[in-house]
Amino acid sequence: MGIQLFKAKYEVDECLAEIRECLEVGWTGMGFKTVKFEEAWKEYTGLPFAHYLNSSTIGLYMAVNILKEQYGWEDGDEIITTPITFVSSNHAILKSDMKAVFADIDETMCMTAESVKERITDRTRAVMYVGLGGNMGHYYEIVKICEENNLKLILDAAHMAGTRYMSEIPGREAEAVVYSFQAVKNLPTADSGMICFKRGEFDEIVRKKCWLGINKDTYARSSDSGNYKWRYDVEYVGDKGHGNSIMASIGLVQLKYLDRDNAYRRQLVTWYRDRLSRYSDKIKLVKIEEGCESACHLFQICVEKRDELMMALNAAEIYPGVHYANNINYHMYNYAKGSCPYAEYVSEHTISLPMNLYLTFEDVQKICDVVEKFIRKN
Ligand SMILES: *Cc1c(COP(=O)(O)O)cnc(C)c1O
Repeated sequence: MGIQLFKAKYEVDECLAEIRECLEVGWTGMGFKTVKFEEAWKEYTGLPFAHYLNSSTIGLYMAVNILKEQYGWEDGDEIITTPITFVSSNHAILKSDMKAVFADIDETMCMTAESVKERITDRTRAVMYVGLGGNMGHYYEIVKICEENNLKLILDAAHMAGTRYMSEIPGREAEAVVYSFQAVKNLPTADSGMICFKRGEFDEIVRKKCWLGINKDTYARSSDSGNYKWRYDVEYVGDKGHGNSIMASIGLVQLKYLDRDNAYRRQLVTWYRDRLSRYSDKIKLVKIEEGCESACHLFQICVEKRDELMMALNAAEIYPGVHYANNINYHMYNYAKGSCPYAEYVSEHTISLPMNLYLTFEDVQKICDVVEKFIRKN
């Protein structure tokens, strides 16, 4: 098998018991465990609202779609975003007929305040902030820029389940925080996500929009007899985006262990840093900002001969990854070519070293041995 980049570790028996309950009561759909998971997530994060979804991709799209509609943004209005992300973040903007304007990043792998400021025009409506690898980057500086310039903030927190800043889960500042519980994320469920709006009205809207636009309340409220329980109104041409009780069962169990798991991830990163920080002239380690207790979804390094190092690692049956290729290189974002030089550099030089909960101290040493040997030769 070798050493994999990602490998989800589940509390198998507890997950199965929780799923078993769904099968026995005959309810695997929305409701039941999804409601419990929403409650548990609100309590864990301290965020006021949470709606459970079948992916974070639909959540990011819903965030842009609903903010656009509710704040009266026009087609072609701009959202400042990062080129170093999974394409979901940026597709959410394009799919809403808005324009993705790319800000450059730095050694934190997140967008910089200076670059965001430079990109603001009279058509800028929002910032899509990605806490890459679970790190905060310059989040609070960007929050301030948004406040000063009357911009809305969307936080793509796909890597940030469990990230804390000064002991608190960040996100209250954002209009919407969107988490991913996809198969390889820190809280893995197979596929699902959570959207946490700041405002209750928007939470109500997303619940309808992610169930084809169905509003069950209209008739439920107007009928005392229960005779019209099957009736509903359809308010929007919505999507099928809500989560289900099987995924929520896994989520409920894994959430109990998220802080324990993230602490081990931080331990892995410490072991990597202990070995690799002495090569600062040849290996750039991702910079984690003061006060951030990162979820450490990724551990990224930058090296000159990235592709060769990848091959050396593969030869030792170690399989790292790349997060991410510069989105500007994809044809739909190509209009921004040349606008983010540091992102271009990262795209060509970054490696994500294995980060999974099966890794041992010895595994990390083995990986670092290969990296070290390569660096000394090159
Ligand atoms: C994984 C990921 C997403 C998409 O999550 P899904 O739950 O798979 O839709 C969005 N943004 C980032 C940064 C991601 O890593």
